[in-house]
Amino acid sequence: MAAAAAGSTESRESSAAGDGVASPRDRPVCLLVLGMAGSGKTTFVQRLTAHLHSHKAPPYVINLDPAVHEVPFPANIDIRDTVNYKEVMKQYGLGPNGGIVTSLNLFATRFDQVMHFIEKKQQNHRYVLIDTPGQIEVFTWSASGTIITEALASSFPVVVVYVMDTSRSVNPVTFMSNMLYACSILYKTKLPFIVVMNKTDIIDHGFAVEWMQDFEAFQDALNQETSYVSNLTRSMSLVLDEFYTNLRVVGVSAVTGSGLDDLFVQVEDAAKEYETEYRPEYERLRQQLAEAQSRKQQEQLERLRKDLGAVNVTGTPPTEGGEEAGPSDLIMMRGNPDNDEEEEDSDTDDIDHTVTEESKESAAFGNFLKARREVVQVRNRKCAVPEAP
Ligand code: GDP
Ligand code: MG
Repeated sequence: MAAAAAGSTESRESSAAGDGVASPRDRPVCLLVLGMAGSGKTTFVQRLTAHLHSHKAPPYVINLDPAVHEVPFPANIDIRDTVNYKEVMKQYGLGPNGGIVTSLNLFATRFDQVMHFIEKKQQNHRYVLIDTPGQIEVFTWSASGTIITEALASSFPVVVVYVMDTSRSVNPVTFMSNMLYACSILYKTKLPFIVVMNKTDIIDHGFAVEWMQDFEAFQDALNQETSYVSNLTRSMSLVLDEFYTNLRVVGVSAVTGSGLDDLFVQVEDAAKEYETEYRPEYERLRQQLAEAQSRKQQEQLERLRKDLGAVNVTGTPPTEGGEEAGPSDLIMMRGNPDNDEEEEDSDTDDIDHTVTEESKESAAFGNFLKARREVVQVRNRKCAVPEAP
């Protein structure tokens, strides 16, 4: 909370101090935007993009939500250009959630190419903004979310921006549940973290800051609650006190754009923290991964790629020659025509995902796709049997 408390005064100075957002730096800072469905992630990314454009520092923007109807910002990379979510649902007989998870998994298998694109453009951008699927667990509790996060964090400073809906957190129990979730993500991603209290145009986030700074104030609020849950909450809030101690909190309205200057002060602070605390850790991890690389693991990845290669995820019909378009062919760029020539030649980057704990999951994922496809094929065959006259 120290940072949050200090934020308001410091930020004015530094934002006035010449729009730090536009000054150049070696590598862009990636803002990984996470939060519950409806918290305002997409609106926030849209607002941030507009803000940075107006400061002559256009960000590199990535949309990872396969199910979003319309992306309200110019995306440099859009998962929807790579994976056809509706087609994935159809081909594998999945519901909406399964479709989103599978689409993200398919995309993660090609994330080395995305890294390649970002690296090529890194000189031009000070920030990379990443919007994630509506339902937070799709990203935070999936193998693909971990693969994507680790790939980014081993090459760039990454800051997790946890967006919460302040107007829906006025109940102390709801507020604490949201904070517990934020806490779990902090410990899972192990990355610098900022809590963005969004929708401050509806309600000021002062009450929440007070609850975080003043334990008694939160206890008072809980006393208004009579349910047994409040006893549990009381014990939990003791645990959270530690979490609050060093937490960066910023009140923002994605609709009006208020609070963004404060936000960028916190982002710079978090990026510094990445360099001093996290980068050495990631470099050690990278080294270990490189050392642990084995032929068997390479084979596993190859097998997965073959499985996926045989899967038509775009809905493009297989060609006469029997060749199908696999996800490997399908990373495309959007809104950035000068990227067209970059498609080929993805030198597999030096992060080897096969040696992460997800390697087994990758193989399992290939098997899952195969099995699903068989189920759907059998079902389709049954449906095709004409009824007896
Ligand atoms: P996501 O699921 O987290 O990506 O959330 P969206 O960005 O789609 O936003 C969900 C809803 O919240 C939409 O109706 C937005 O217009 C609304 N919303 C987002 N940010 C704000 C905000 O700062 N203020 C208000 N009043 N509404 C917001
Ligand atoms: Mg969204």
